[in-house]
Amino acid sequence: MALRLADLAAGSVALVGVPLDCNSSFLRGPALAPARIREALFSGSSNECAEDGTEVLTRLVDAGDLDLSIGPAAMAAIETGIGSVLERGARVLSLGGDHSVTYPIVRAHAGRHPGLEILHFDAHPDLYDQLDGNRLSHASPFARIMEERLARRLVQVGIRTLNPHQKDQARRFGVEIVEMDAVTPELRFDFDGPLYVTIDLDALDPAFAPGVSHHEPGGLSVRELLRVLQRTRGQVVGADVVELNPLRDPVGATAAVGAKLVKELAARMLR
Ligand code: MN
Ligand code: MN
Repeated sequence: MALRLADLAAGSVALVGVPLDCNSSFLRGPALAPARIREALFSGSSNECAEDGTEVLTRLVDAGDLDLSIGPAAMAAIETGIGSVLERGARVLSLGGDHSVTYPIVRAHAGRHPGLEILHFDAHPDLYDQLDGNRLSHASPFARIMEERLARRLVQVGIRTLNPHQKDQARRFGVEIVEMDAVTPELRFDFDGPLYVTIDLDALDPAFAPGVSHHEPGGLSVRELLRVLQRTRGQVVGADVVELNPLRDPVGATAAVGAKLVKELAARMLR
């Protein structure tokens, strides 16, 4: 199935599913996530508004899922597919997929938004030069993004898995890391350039979001993440929600968290 681009106009916010999990190091499953997040989003269990009252569900345009093969060719297909939406002047809110998809998505954005800045929620810095020999691993997207200078600033929040290699990488790339134990209720950021927001659901404590591949206890509550997002200043030009693993989400509670975050991100993008 190709993307549905006909309904997209300048200023639209397009939902784009990115069903890829072949770069996951531990478990498969995130390729099944776009359908589950959509189901939660449009289920009728909650209303059409984000918390600030912005009507998002009636305004989001669902462009469908990218049609992806497995392997490195998928990366090029993601970049091209996302680029085809951006060419229409629309903004992209992607539903992952494992976190490897953020590299080609950011690549598509970087050419159109010079000075791009990134706000990244995650338990993991995802800065490995390679993992198990895979430079496209879901543990490596921000190494590629920073090597190619696709972002002027990268701020990571919720990190609680730094090892010596990733500390070196963070220093080398000038990554600003707010480790989990430094998260305060007042945490907020001011971004002056175009802002891309990427949310790996494992940034949240497994108590709030158990439907992910990597359970890393001691994480953010949903409210803590929302507070940082809602208080941060900057013009959000693109976003993704990644790493939902439906195989570990039998009652759909984590998909509901993903859908909630999609609504909040959409409200920022429609502003
Ligand atoms: Mn990640
Ligand atoms: Mn993670």
